[in-house]
Amino acid sequence: MSDCLFCRIAAGEIPSKKVYEDDDFLAFHDIRPIAPVHFLIIPKLHLASLVQCEDTHQALLGRMLLLAPKLAAEQGMADGFKCGINTGVGGGQEVFHLHLHVFGHPA
Ligand code: AMP
Ligand code: ZN
Repeated sequence: MSDCLFCRIAAGEIPSKKVYEDDDFLAFHDIRPIAPVHFLIIPKLHLASLVQCEDTHQALLGRMLLLAPKLAAEQGMADGFKCGINTGVGGGQEVFHLHLHVFGHPA
């Protein structure tokens, strides 16, 4: 989606501070971090939020979640980290492309 900020980041049209990339996911540092380490994991597939996810997205969601501890460890958060998916206007979502916040302090 050309008018979606995170689709444009995934396409490399808008720069980001990359943490990880594979065929299906991109992770990059949040531009307004709320913790010393704060990055976002996004599927490259445009899904507006968790509400738009269906049974067919089960594996994608699982893989996105499993990336969190792997990348958190790589970013130095050996003691643990927090995760969050803001969903919908009522959930404080600002960018309507599904993303998993991962944040915390390096150990
Ligand atoms: P939310 O939709 O509320 O879960 O939050 C969207 C997050 O995206 C916020 O934490 C923003 O700081 C972050 N953000 C917005 N634009 C960019 C960008 N260009 N690069 C990295 N992070 C961004
Ligand atoms: Zn998108």
